[in-house]
Amino acid sequence: MKAGHCRFCNTPLSLSFVDLGSTPLANSYVPLDRADAPEPSYPLRASVCGECRLVQADAFVPAEDIFSHYAYFSSFSDSWVAHARRFAHMAMDRFGIGAQSLVVEVASNDGYLLRHFVEAGVPVLGIEPAANVAEAARAVGVRTEAVFFGAATGDDVKAREGGADLVVANNVLAHVPDINDFVEGFARVLKPEGVISIEFPHLLRLIEDVQFDTVYHEHFYYLSLLAVEKVMAAHGLRVFDVEEWPTHGGSLRVFACLKGASHVEQPGVAKVRADEAAAGLDRDEIYADFQRRVTPIREGLLAFLRQAKAEGKRVAAYGAAAKGNTLLNFSGVGTDLIDYVVDRNPHKQGHLLPGSHLPVHAPEKLAETKPDYVLILPWNIKDEVVASHAHVRDWGGRFVIAVPRLTVLP
Ligand SMILES: [Zn+2]
Repeated sequence: MKAGHCRFCNTPLSLSFVDLGSTPLANSYVPLDRADAPEPSYPLRASVCGECRLVQADAFVPAEDIFSHYAYFSSFSDSWVAHARRFAHMAMDRFGIGAQSLVVEVASNDGYLLRHFVEAGVPVLGIEPAANVAEAARAVGVRTEAVFFGAATGDDVKAREGGADLVVANNVLAHVPDINDFVEGFARVLKPEGVISIEFPHLLRLIEDVQFDTVYHEHFYYLSLLAVEKVMAAHGLRVFDVEEWPTHGGSLRVFACLKGASHVEQPGVAKVRADEAAAGLDRDEIYADFQRRVTPIREGLLAFLRQAKAEGKRVAAYGAAAKGNTLLNFSGVGTDLIDYVVDRNPHKQGHLLPGSHLPVHAPEKLAETKPDYVLILPWNIKDEVVASHAHVRDWGGRFVIAVPRLTVLP
């Protein structure tokens, strides 16, 4: 991989997709005693490859700086846990996964998904590079190895275990620096009729809904079916089904297999291919036009916060998530405009958000201070947040989202 070249096909990158200025890493929460210390920040930009149409981060951050924060990607919402359970039961039925099978999950985290296979008596192997997270999975009975996944890991598992009937990789493909080595690992670990199931936020949704705040340094790619099929094909793999899911603002679940396997292509593949072609994901214009659509979101947020301040209203935020940091830092919002953010993750509480330096408190803080507005930063779970914090309305508080446009929720 050469700087300035496509991480998949090595073509020089010449078309910018989005430029969000220079910001700290989204998951670098600042301890209170380091509030005055300088924060390293890096350009936050993405480009699109003119050859394969893979949208990818411009490389500025040393990989080890990103991986030291890998464990943070584990905060799951209740709706995500339910999504994983439904997936496990669907996969067992559809692909005949049973006691003779092996299910491998890459980035298996704390076993949130594999434990449903374990409960059904299906042998599993989790691959989870964060050692402490892997240990948590083992503690609940999910066999897990603390290694990175790639071609060598695929060979190793195939040699030791005879290969996988199902490989699951949800929301990890965007996080791997070497996409070729990673996808080659799928091809190496599969049994001849084995199935790969991967999920990722869909680039088409990012573009159409102006989800620019899902751009952060820890994401190397923003994936379309168009690009994923090219990467798969280069490694002897074939996509045979695609499903669209509302998770993470709109995701694709892509099923793939070895080129020679017997799985029949389903209509979902042609449907998403056609949607992407109709939107123009195979041409320059849609990418070149994206930056122009981002600026009004910043202006809308700033106008709202300044107006609230002028009226003496108090604003808090909900959700110390990566996308919130992108939004706040790109918009230049700090404690002058938002008092604090709440998050139910105790590891984030007692810290400051990177860049904006909003203090992170437990959700109970909302009832103590009764803010007039609560800006929900992870808009993808806004319904869940509103439902579980109904008491905010008791004191006349209103929920607000900023993306794709500033909206005070009814
Ligand atoms: Zn390329």
